[in-house]
Amino acid sequence: MALLEVDGLSVNYGHIEAIRDITFSVEVGTITTLIGANGAGKTTTLKTISGLRSVRKGRIVFDGKDITNTKPYERVKLGLTQSPEGRRCFPGMTVRENLDMGALLRTDRRTGGVKEDMDRVFGLFPRLLERVDQYAGTMSGGEQQMLAIGRALMARPKLVLLDEPSMGLAPKLIRQIFSIIDEIKEQGTTVLLVEQNANQALKRSDVAHVLETGEIVRSGTGPELAVDPAVKAAYLGGD
Ligand code: ATP
Repeated sequence: MALLEVDGLSVNYGHIEAIRDITFSVEVGTITTLIGANGAGKTTTLKTISGLRSVRKGRIVFDGKDITNTKPYERVKLGLTQSPEGRRCFPGMTVRENLDMGALLRTDRRTGGVKEDMDRVFGLFPRLLERVDQYAGTMSGGEQQMLAIGRALMARPKLVLLDEPSMGLAPKLIRQIFSIIDEIKEQGTTVLLVEQNANQALKRSDVAHVLETGEIVRSGTGPELAVDPAVKAAYLGGD
């Protein structure tokens, strides 16, 4: 069953067409990945799905509902959250306060659901538990990246959009982030991922799409695209 359907999506910045006629869907329980060069339109696609950019043409259907013209917070309430590129946490708030912010729109705050999810986040990222009272602004880049992902999960989303979660991280931490993405999927949250680190991302993707100058030019399973000669040459360093 498709949790997300993106149908003929076009988005402009002024007269510049950032994405053009993008169509794909994300099945429940999968990891779907968008790869592509800098400026291909990956972030724009995610921002449009989460409601931060408006659509020029096309339609977005989430969990059976047309959300094309709904506000970002309405999408969060329906179960769609985004962990933004560049570790955007609230620097003057502690780890716990940042996670609490992620649960702001939930209606089950009094029933223990939020506590349960905070424990889930601490299970995925023990480092955040160790630093629960530390100000986010004083955490390392990798720790802030974990916090941004953790905060997105606090809304108990059906679908989480992850924009370059491995960006700027050391190789060991990159491996850790990817195994956490696997775990997020295993725990039942569907993932739509944007990654420059195409090799690692494709390995674990059920479906992947290659974007080039705002259009989808290739689609397949992650492992299929990982061995596709054109994809290898362009995005995997030809190895
Ligand atoms: P990267 O991997 O470098 O983050 P991307 O694939 O995520 O790239 P986008 O950030 O979606 O690409 O950008 C797509 C195109 O839209 C680019 O040509 C970019 O310059 C342009 N663009 C993005 N944001 C804006 C903006 N706010 N105003 C004008 N043009 C923009």
